[in-house]
Amino acid sequence: MARIGLFGGTFNPIHVGHLTIAEEARLSAGLDRVIFIPSGESYFKDPRQIASREDRLQMTRRACGEAYEVSDIETRREGPSYTAVTCRAFREMYPEDALYLILGADSLMEIDRWRDPGAIFDAVTVLAFTRGGEDAAAFTAEVERLRAKYGARIEIIDVFMLDVSSSDIRRFIAEGHAFRHLVSEPVYGYIREHGLYGKQ
Ligand code: ATP
Repeated sequence: MARIGLFGGTFNPIHVGHLTIAEEARLSAGLDRVIFIPSGESYFKDPRQIASREDRLQMTRRACGEAYEVSDIETRREGPSYTAVTCRAFREMYPEDALYLILGADSLMEIDRWRDPGAIFDAVTVLAFTRGGEDAAAFTAEVERLRAKYGARIEIIDVFMLDVSSSDIRRFIAEGHAFRHLVSEPVYGYIREHGLYGKQ
């Protein structure tokens, strides 16, 4: 039985913060593999900020290299992605393995408003990490509530995090600031080659 981490995101673009969190999750939960899952729909409306599903998938593949796997389960489907649908699909693909959904505390606080949270908790254990900024007491209370309501398996991991976000990076690129070292080198090359996110 393998311990498999699932890490979804827009990855618009994927950056060193994402890779660091995946590695922290792998180390702290003893994961055998981590699979990155770029989301299907990009919700950004500003044309300078849009990267296509294909571009986000390619950047994620380049960033992960040999270290992590990348799934196109969400990018190959049209329309928005639902975590419940993805988790159920992974449960079917890996019936014998332990699945861990790597999720920021901010996302876990909203999960009860997502489509079919019960299906998510049936399929996976949530590995929740705090990203700073959340109210610790409210977070603990919400974790307890989800455990009681859904029988949710939620593990909290204490991780080292870098203060960088994709929106910061898109803004740095558009404004002509240095972004090269906030993404991995092949992602930097891809962004430049394809002229993504405005001014380079
Ligand atoms: P944006 O700034 O466009 O909202 P983002 O940087 O938050 O993007 P996403 O692709 O939305 O990136 O994030 C995917 C997951 O990675 C989310 O669970 C998010 O909480 C987490 N994440 C993003 N940046 C970091 C970071 N610097 N450290 C740890 N986790 C991060």
